[in-house]
Amino acid sequence: MRRKPLKKHMYAIYDEEGNRWGKCKYCEKKLAGSGSGKSGTSSQNKHIKNCEKNPANKKDDKPNLVSKNTDDGQGTLGMWKFDPIKARILLVRMIIIDELPFVFIERAGFRKFMEALCPNIKVPSRFTVARDILDLYLEEKVKLRNFFCKK
Ligand SMILES: [Zn+2]
Repeated sequence: MRRKPLKKHMYAIYDEEGNRWGKCKYCEKKLAGSGSGKSGTSSQNKHIKNCEKNPANKKDDKPNLVSKNTDDGQGTLGMWKFDPIKARILLVRMIIIDELPFVFIERAGFRKFMEALCPNIKVPSRFTVARDILDLYLEEKVKLRNFFCKK
């Protein structure tokens, strides 16, 4: 009995043969299923959960990040998906590898660049990154210790 949420997100539309379809309110995608059959309802529910234009899905991406999954019209990047956790790890590694000052990520130029790439991104503060780096240091230290203790 998942019909209530469906009504909130779907229009019912009918084709020439009188079959009922669901139409997503956010992206206008037409989805099979009358909403009464089990399969139809679950495919529609699944779409609503994953619909990029559903504002509720944006909230779920709280780790600073974007839900612009398919990119800015560049065909080559069509299947690219923004991975907030991976991005954060790479940001931390960038600071270390390139020997950048923590304040680098708070500078206007870098922020503008990131905004252009990913409009919804919230770049972490230098304090957060410093904490991430410390965590990484401790993690690697344990790994190294274990490595040397084994042999
Ligand atoms: Zn949709």
